[in-house]
Amino acid sequence: MEHQISQAIVQGWFKKLTDHLVSDVVIVGGGPSGLICATELARLGHKTTLIERKLAPGGGMWGGAMLFNCIVVQEAAIPILDEYGITYKAANDGLYLADAVESTSALIYHAARAGVAIFNGMSVEDLIVADDMVTGVVINWTPVTLNKMHVDPLTISAKAVLDGTGHPCEIVNILTHKNKVELHLPSTTVLFERSLNAEAGERACVEHTGEVYPGLYVSGMAACGVTGSNRMGPIFGGMLISGKKAARIIDEALRKQ
Ligand SMILES: Cc1cc2nc3c(=O)[nH]c(=O)nc-3n(C[C@H](O)[C@H](O)[C@H](O)COP(=O)(O)OP(=O)(O)OC[C@H]3O[C@@H](n4cnc5c(N)ncnc54)[C@H](O)[C@@H]3O)c2cc1C
Repeated sequence: MEHQISQAIVQGWFKKLTDHLVSDVVIVGGGPSGLICATELARLGHKTTLIERKLAPGGGMWGGAMLFNCIVVQEAAIPILDEYGITYKAANDGLYLADAVESTSALIYHAARAGVAIFNGMSVEDLIVADDMVTGVVINWTPVTLNKMHVDPLTISAKAVLDGTGHPCEIVNILTHKNKVELHLPSTTVLFERSLNAEAGERACVEHTGEVYPGLYVSGMAACGVTGSNRMGPIFGGMLISGKKAARIIDEALRKQ
């Protein structure tokens, strides 16, 4: 009995990993923008893998603001809440209030149900770069990276990689620091985010979602981070719309290949 439980887990998990060692898309970071992007791409039939450093995907959405676990969403993103079955109430002036736990768990549930292979407790520590193009990610267990253990990683190949790592835009930083490449943006280097301005930040997060280097895309706070745009405080509509936009752009790029 006991060995059969272990056998089922080990066989199931290794099949999932083996099936996704060559993916169409790897999403790095399971925050709201990464989860939406992953769900949409999986629904469109792309083999999609999501790597999340922490045990629970969801990123910065669980805690609302200062641990008051409610989130605010603007009118423009309400169709996404409806689509994902998330309940909300009108607050004021075109703003709506949703429960942070319900919203975050709904995004994770839909990603899993859409067929996204989610690997939690795993970190992306580097990229595969060949012929001036990002062609995959280098992965390791989070406890291994946190403890700085001297253990070599594994890789996942992909036609597209999304940096959905939020404020630190970790993956773009790895690309520029290790390879001395220039980003395909007016700035060519990571500018890091600016101080809080909700309206400007929400606009920028969606506007700057897209490809920053062949094969590498940004969404959510990472899109603000690389372009030196404002942070926006606990309003989440931009993150959701950014995830959708990233999926649309990646889908178009994959269809052309
Ligand atoms: C200090 C702080 C300040 C914040 N300020 C703002 C703000 O100004 N405006 C705002 O809207 N929200 C803010 N938030 C809330 C929140 O981060 C974002 O709004 C929102 O959650 C960002 O969504 P995202 O999809 O970009 O990524 P996030 O929700 O940030 O999720 C990123 C995910 O990527 C994972 N990750 C990171 N690096 C790796 C890696 N190498 N490998 C695998 N996984 C990785 C993280 O564990 C995390 O789950 C803040 C959060 C924090 C912690």
